[in-house]
Amino acid sequence: MHDSNSYVLGCRLDPFTMAVALDKVEGWIDQAEPGASAHIITLNAEIAYQAHFDEPLRDLINRAWLVTPDGIGIVWGARKLGIEVPERVTGIDLMERICQRAAARGWKVFFLGAAPGIAEQAAQILQERYPGLTVSGVRHGYFNAGEEPEIIADIVSSAPQVLFVGLGAPRQEWWIDQHKKQLRVPVCIGIGGSLDVISGHKKRAPEWMIKLNLEWLYRLLAEPSRYKRQLVLPRFVWLIIKSRLPKPRHGK
Ligand code: UDP
Repeated sequence: MHDSNSYVLGCRLDPFTMAVALDKVEGWIDQAEPGASAHIITLNAEIAYQAHFDEPLRDLINRAWLVTPDGIGIVWGARKLGIEVPERVTGIDLMERICQRAAARGWKVFFLGAAPGIAEQAAQILQERYPGLTVSGVRHGYFNAGEEPEIIADIVSSAPQVLFVGLGAPRQEWWIDQHKKQLRVPVCIGIGGSLDVISGHKKRAPEWMIKLNLEWLYRLLAEPSRYKRQLVLPRFVWLIIKSRLPKPRHGK
C-alpha cells in the first residue's frame, strides 16, 4: 500500500516519479490479492483545497494507495512545505503510460466515463497508439443509480486489470471508493476529462505551455466557465503560506 508520509493541507501526497508510479501499478497487478483494489488519485490544488474543509474527502484521499501530484499548484504547495516533488504525474500522462505498459504486459483495461461515444473513440486511438492493448470494455459516464448494477456487472465480467474512471473529481473518487470491493479490479484510477482529450474532443495545452507550467492558463482560456473553479487557486496559495507562518503564541 502507500508508503509516503508527506501531506499538503492534510492530504497525503506521494512524491514519486512517473517511473516509480508505474512500477507500483505493475507490482499491484502482479501480486493482486483477490478483492483488493489499489485506488490511485491524481491530486490537484482544487481537490486538496476542497478536502481541507471536507473530512470524508480527506480520509478518502488518505486511504488511496497512490496520490500523485497532478497540477503545478499542488507541486508548488508541496515544495513550499519542504516536500521534494521530482515531477508532475498527471492523470492523462499516467493513463497513457499505463496503457503503454498494459499493451506490453497483456493487461486488460476498461474505460468508464465521458459523454456517449467518447470512451469508444479514446479506446480506439489508444489501441492504435499502443498496438496489442486489450480493452475489456467501455461505458459512458452519464448514468443513474439504477444503471449502476449493470455497469458493475459489465466491469466484473470483463475482468480488467485496470479501470479508468472519468466522471470528474471528486465524484470519480467517490465512485471508485464506493464500488471497488464489488468491482474486484486490481487498479482503479480517476482520470477526469482525459477521455475527452485523448478522443480529440478537448485540446490539451501545447507542449510549450505544459513545459512552462501554464496548463492551468490554457484551460482557463479554453473554458472560461472554469474560472470559478480556478478562483480556488489563490485561496489554496494563501492556505499554504498561512500554514508556514509561525503559530501565534498563547498564554501571554
Ligand atoms: N462526466 C461524466 N458523467 C457525468 C459528469 C461528467 O462522465 O455525469 C465526465 C465529463 O463528460 C468529462 C469528465 O467527466 O469527460 C469531467 O471532466 P473535467 O475536465 O471537468 O474533469 P475534472 O477537472 O473535474 O477532473
